[in-house]
Amino acid sequence: MNQISAPQLPDMNAVWQETLNWQPTPEQQVLFQQLFELIIQFNQQLNLTRITEPQEFWEKHLWDSLRGISFLLSEKNLLSPGTKFIDIGTGGGFPGIPLAVIFPESSVTLLDSTRKKITALTTILEELKINNTIPWVGRAEALGQHPKHRESYDFALLRAVAPPSVSAEYALPLLKVGGTAILYRGHWTPEEEQQLISAVKQLGGVLESVDGFTTPLTQSIRHCLYLKKVRPTAKQYPRAIGIPGQKPL
Ligand code: SAM
Repeated sequence: MNQISAPQLPDMNAVWQETLNWQPTPEQQVLFQQLFELIIQFNQQLNLTRITEPQEFWEKHLWDSLRGISFLLSEKNLLSPGTKFIDIGTGGGFPGIPLAVIFPESSVTLLDSTRKKITALTTILEELKINNTIPWVGRAEALGQHPKHRESYDFALLRAVAPPSVSAEYALPLLKVGGTAILYRGHWTPEEEQQLISAVKQLGGVLESVDGFTTPLTQSIRHCLYLKKVRPTAKQYPRAIGIPGQKPL
């Protein structure tokens, strides 16, 4: 593959500090820059992301990914070595890869049903020497019934994968009781909230909180939904591949 150079990501230390009360270390900043360069490079062959401008990449991929888990930046005691995350429908690696960079003692499974994307991410992660991720090709509906994966994760993250109640059916079976699913959304309505609450209840969870905010550069509207698993999910969930999307709870 031809080596192409990507522009520098902007210096956003002041914005990280102001918005998340946190800043990446110089080593983490280097990894973010290298990640950007490799994604631009792989994007020549494969559509990993349509976000390729440096400012937009910083805001929509790096900042947005970490904003959803910013409570873990301030409450470090919620993490222990070996805390298990799964990013369901990771695509070009978001939100999972920025998380793996900043929490090197955690394990981050990057799940996507498209083999080519996971193959590209595997190469990118090898080049970056990020070794706390598990890239995995598969469908969330199948993984949720897999004995090694079911009820085994502390956190499940989903961004731009499926409607809210479908995302909940993908995520909750994979969580331990006490685990949290984080759904990254744009706009959010009371009608969507009612539907989600009912679906989450059937899956053994509760909608714990809804966090609305705007992004720091373009003031785009975002909502993060936090679902807590409070009891084991009934065996019939997730339903067979394709059914959650066709017949949302
Ligand atoms: N999360 C990334 C982001 O926000 O940039 C990528 C979003 S992309 C629009 C959605 C991804 O979810 C695609 O790569 C697709 O292959 C994957 N996907 C959709 N349904 C899935 C399922 N049931 N199981 C696993 N991956 C799925």
